[in-house]
Amino acid sequence: MATAVTRILNPQTNTAHKPCDDESVRTTACGSLVTATHDRTRIVSDETVRTSAAIERCGSCFDDVSGY
Ligand SMILES: [Zn+2]
Repeated sequence: MATAVTRILNPQTNTAHKPCDDESVRTTACGSLVTATHDRTRIVSDETVRTSAAIERCGSCFDDVSGY
């Protein structure tokens, strides 16, 4: 199954979250409060997140960030 790798970016904190599922990208895998401010969130590609030094990755959504 080929799925587009999308991330949910909260511009207020420059934090990227993993979407809970592709059908409901307003819900994050960590259950963060993005839903409340979904009109301010942006959907970005994983490549954008990985290549942007300004974007932090949510430690709850991304295992490799744990310990930050
Ligand atoms: Zn998260």
